[in-house]
This record gives sequence, structure tokens and C-alpha cells, in this order.
Amino acid sequence: MAQGHTIPLLYLARLLQQRHVSVTIFTTPANSPSIRATLRNTAIPIIELDFPQNVDGIPPGVENTDKLPSLFLFPQFAKATKLMQPQFEKVLEELRPVISCIISDAFLGWTQDSAAKLDIRRIGFYGMSGFATTMYEILSKQRPQALITSLDEPFCIPDFHRLSLTRNDFVPPFSELEPKGPMVEFMIEQNMAMAKSYGMIVNSFYEIESGYIDYWNRHMGPKALCIGPLCMAKPPVLLAEEFEKPKWRLWLDEKMKNGEQVLYVAFGTQAEVSEEQLLEIAEGLEQSNANFLWVTKSKSLEILEGFEKRAKNRGIIVREWVDQMEILRHKSVKGFLSHCGWNSVTESICAGVPILAMPFMAEQHLNARLVAEELGIGLRIMPINGSVRGFVKWDEVEKRVRELMEAREGEEIRKKMKKVAEAASGAIREGGSSWQTLDQLVYDVMNYST
Ligand code: UDP
Repeated sequence: MAQGHTIPLLYLARLLQQRHVSVTIFTTPANSPSIRATLRNTAIPIIELDFPQNVDGIPPGVENTDKLPSLFLFPQFAKATKLMQPQFEKVLEELRPVISCIISDAFLGWTQDSAAKLDIRRIGFYGMSGFATTMYEILSKQRPQALITSLDEPFCIPDFHRLSLTRNDFVPPFSELEPKGPMVEFMIEQNMAMAKSYGMIVNSFYEIESGYIDYWNRHMGPKALCIGPLCMAKPPVLLAEEFEKPKWRLWLDEKMKNGEQVLYVAFGTQAEVSEEQLLEIAEGLEQSNANFLWVTKSKSLEILEGFEKRAKNRGIIVREWVDQMEILRHKSVKGFLSHCGWNSVTESICAGVPILAMPFMAEQHLNARLVAEELGIGLRIMPINGSVRGFVKWDEVEKRVRELMEAREGEEIRKKMKKVAEAASGAIREGGSSWQTLDQLVYDVMNYST
């Protein structure tokens, strides 16, 4: 699927390997190089399955959703992955004597059928927070939004009465009153496969989501296994790479030497941000006077060129793939203007960097709520229309950047983030909550006899 799904699964592979569990990765030829790069220094074998060609609307060579020309092609993409099932099962059958468990992306529900055929346990991975996963489940099963005609009218969540959400916190078609269409059918299929699975790994840690994880395990299923934040298992930068520091790293080092603080800006790999919105964010950053490092692969890059020139040495725009964890862990980085993809949120937590939440799509609006309202580790940037979804003006960006980087609000949030970051590293350390859950999982899977 997307990098945001793949990267944490690869970190999980490292964790399993550290527990002396042998891991084999199944992928496709186009995805293989980046997987090899992430798994550098490990002896984890990779098996490549051919990705089907000539599938309706999917350009040749596009083998993950980051590369899709439009997310409208997602249902066709998902269908294409399913065509790999016979190849997958053939290899699986050969490996059957040594396989105890399949861990697969939640959007590859067909792997559950393959696992069942061979009597192997399958564990699904959504890559969402426990909060978002639980809210989506409540919305689709209990439908508290059923009579709410306005997209912005708050409604209460059953069993979580202090929570009030709007339909705009969810993505279309799920935010619609009568969701239907290929995406809804696809999700129903995936959820049915997930319900039959042995468990569901949540890339989070119990200490920040206990209420939602406990609720899921009491009322929903399959059992949620909170094993995270997985970014803690990211390998350190290699010494050889240290000698070839990229431009952004040299720039950050210089800022650190001068005792200056930097705001990191990035909106992930999937969100399509309009030109108008990009310019408004640029204007807000310009007015805020903050130093910034903005990573973007937007197709409309040239419109930001004038802005970058005006910023002089106050900011840089980076167009290539970066090591986001390395940026967040850099001592000069004191804030993250983020779309709130769940990986970005957990990476910011691991690095102890407070967040300016500016969500665009998927479950990012719910993550933004978790960050700003539930955990108090960030500030929300709000659209002009008073809704949680919509166009954000430059003056709102300027105001929130100043609050986070210069004002008392920022100080408070920083303190809370420090505590949450400590809890995160405690969870994944030996004896911590995530460490114990992983240990139990390995024990259960290894002792399962067919
Ligand atoms: N990422 C990265 N370098 C980049 C862009 C993205 O390392 O130049 C990583 C980032 O650290 C995160 C993932 O890609 O692990 C993006 O996942 P996230 O859930 O934050 O957002 P998505 O891309 O799924 O919207």
C-alpha cells in the first residue's frame, strides 16, 4: 500500500527479528528497493511477487498507492493486488512447514483467505491510532451520525460521552449520511476479513490510548495488540552516511550552532494540497518569522520558488525523500507543522516535538483531535469557515506558528509532549507495555499448533 503503511511494518519486522523470530517479506519488484533500503543491515529475505499489469487505469510500474495518479483509482488498485493471490499462495504452500503467522496490511484482506486455507494465523495492520480505528467502527456499526444532517453539527459518541465529533471529522464517503460506492464495499470486505483474523496490530502505545484499546477489546474485534510506537525501532543513521550529509542536514546543523529554532513542515506522501492552500501556508510562514524546513513533493513546486527566495536563509524547501525521523530528532527542530498522518504523529512523539495540526484527508482529522484535544501535545490550525475541514488562511497559520514557537501556549504543550515522549520510550523498552504485548504475541503464535 502506501509508504505510511509499509514503513512501520518494516520496523515491526526488525523488532520481531530482535526476538529471534525469522521474518520473510513479500512485496513487488517496484517496492523492493525502498524496502531493502529501510531494512539495511538486516538479513531479512524478500520475496517478490509480480504485480499485475494492464489493470483498469493503473499505469505500468505503479505498485503502491503513493504513486497512483489519483486516489480515485484506489478500488482498482486494491483489485489488482488481489490478482496476486494465486502467486502468493503458491509460495506460501512451499514455505508452509516453517510459517507460523502472516502479518499483512489491513487492505490486503484476501491474505486472510490464504491464511485460512493453509491454517495459518493472520494478523492485520491498519497503521491507524486506536482512537481513529474505534471511532470509524462506532460510526459504521452504531451510526450515531444517522440523523445529523449538517456536516458540522456536533454529535455525541455512544460510550464516550465527553467526546463530540462532527461528520466532517470523517472522510467521504464515510462522512455521508448513506455511505455507498466501491470504497465502502471495499472497506466492508476488509473489515470482514479483519474480523476473522487472529488480531490487529495498532502502532501506538497503551498509555495514550488505553480507553480506546480497552473498549475495542471489550466490544469489537479481533483483539487489538498495541505494539508501538514502531518508529522507536528505526535503525540509527549509519556512520558512512554521516559523511555525506544532505543539504538540509547541514542547514539544520548551522541553525543549531547559532542557537536558532526550526519549524519542520511536511504533509506526508498522500495528501494533495491545492496551489492556493500552499501559497497561503507559505504566506503564514513568511509572516511568522519562524525558521522553517519544508519538505514537499507537490507538483506545484514552482509557485513556492519566490517564497523560498524571499525567505533567504530563514527557510529551505526540500524536494527529495528525507529521513523524517532524523529531522524530527535534530536538536534545532522545535515544532512540526504536520498533516497528522499517524506515522508523522508517532514520529513526532518519539522525538518529543510538539505538533501544529493541519489535517487534509484519511483519518488525519481524528488524529488532529487526538493530538490537540485529547493529549494536548499540539495546537490545531483551523479553517476560516469554522468547520474542521476547509481552507486555512495565512493569518491563522502565522498565529499558531507564533503560539507554538514563541508563546506560553507552546511551553505548556512542550512540557506535555516531553511526558508523552517518555511514556513512549518506556512502552517499547524491555518490560514496557508494547514490549510485553509483543512478547506475548510471539509466545502465542509460536505455541499455536494446528
Ligand atoms: N517520510 C519520510 N520521508 C519523506 C516523506 C515521508 O521518511 O520525505 C515518511 C514519514 O517519516 C512517515 C511516512 O513517510 O513514516 C508517512 O506516513 P504518514 O502516516 O505520516 O503520512 P501519509 O504519507 O501516510 O499520509
